[in-house]
Amino acid sequence: MAIQVKTPLVELDGDEMTRIIWQMIKDKLILPYLDIDLKYYDLGLKHRDETGDQVTIDSAAAILKYGVGVKCATITPNGARMKEYSLKEQWKSPNGTIRARLDGTIFRKPIIVNNIPRYVRTWNKPITIARHAYGDIYKNVEMRIPGAGKTELVYTPADGSPEVRQVIHEFKNLGIIQGVHNLDKSIRSFAQACIQYALGEKIDLWLGLKDTISKTYHARFRDIFQEEVDAKKAEFEKAGITYLYTLIDDIVARIMRHEGGMLWACMNYDGDVQSDMLASGFGSLGLMTSVLVSPLGVYEYEAAHGTVQRHYYQHLKGEKTSTNSTASIFAWTGGLRKRGELDSTPDVVDFADKVEAATLETIESGVMTGDLASITTSSNPTKATTEGFIDAVAERLKAKLV
Ligand code: NAP
Ligand code: MG
Repeated sequence: MAIQVKTPLVELDGDEMTRIIWQMIKDKLILPYLDIDLKYYDLGLKHRDETGDQVTIDSAAAILKYGVGVKCATITPNGARMKEYSLKEQWKSPNGTIRARLDGTIFRKPIIVNNIPRYVRTWNKPITIARHAYGDIYKNVEMRIPGAGKTELVYTPADGSPEVRQVIHEFKNLGIIQGVHNLDKSIRSFAQACIQYALGEKIDLWLGLKDTISKTYHARFRDIFQEEVDAKKAEFEKAGITYLYTLIDDIVARIMRHEGGMLWACMNYDGDVQSDMLASGFGSLGLMTSVLVSPLGVYEYEAAHGTVQRHYYQHLKGEKTSTNSTASIFAWTGGLRKRGELDSTPDVVDFADKVEAATLETIESGVMTGDLASITTSSNPTKATTEGFIDAVAERLKAKLV
């Protein structure tokens, strides 16, 4: 008897090795058990090109309409891809296009597996990281200063009131200068997304800044977060979670000796850097999940890694591959669990739990892909092929569901 999924789920297909994995997951782990209406959008690069990237825009609209999407990794075209796919245009990153339409925040969370060691001994629970994806150096204006001269910050109010000026530096010789900005509105919606996520997952929220040095710019982040946390004080208490604000260097030091299990809210640059540090610290890119949470109340789940191009070319040559599908499986289960929560259908949530348990138990039994086989603490791991791993998960899942 198939499990009924009440509301449609939006499915965004993608490219290369992950597209192959995606189909296997759907065929072997999802469709045999669910009665589900998948709203399918093919974001494979060829189809994006054929539709003038309209399919990406349509997929974002569908997520807004139905509430939950699951996405396969996609190619962000560069010069080489332009040639490889004879593209009409160098299309923008689909993730960027979708994020702009959903106005969301991305949360990255590692999957913990008992026999896959973390490089940091203390990390026994996932450290989830949220990156503010607007402004700071990513929207900077900068110059080289060719010689002696004065540099200033100038604000010219639109309403005609007097200009405000502040000297940045009186250069005596060669140098460099940079102007950055952020918006109260963007910082506030980031704070709200982090709070919504922390409350939903019942995990503590941490924020670190350098407000001792940046007494206005960084301090604005601190104050906005504090206002938003204060507004949700009762909900924090009810969820049994806390908010920690401290200096960014103190946060980094604490992260290294903490067991994990918190949400770490990061300014744009910190998030860019620290998310890569955490991903390798937790073992493999194949174990990192990602969810885009929109303040409009909609969600998009995906693996944090890319399309694993190198493995795809092996596959095209007919060679055996051993690509880890765990994060892609968890994209499906994350989306299904959220769908079940929003629809109040506990059997869908339970199904997602079982697929995840089957996946983790497969790895913990010693059957795993090459990326994990090379780092596991299990003494005689079986290095599975891409399909062999999914088949092993499917077998365990079947046993749980009959
Ligand atoms: P990648 O696909 O993440 O792969 C980089 C390397 O990491 C792989 O060659 C592989 O290492 C390892 N790896 C990543 N995921 C793995 C998995 N599931 N199982 C086993 N090993 C895994 O990054 P990339 O090669 O730089 O990018 C390829 C394409 O993906 C690009 O076109 C890029 O635009 C796109 N991309 C998309 C997204 C997205 O849609 N969210 C994100 C990032 C990149 P070994 O080769 O050593 O085995
Ligand atoms: Mg980075």
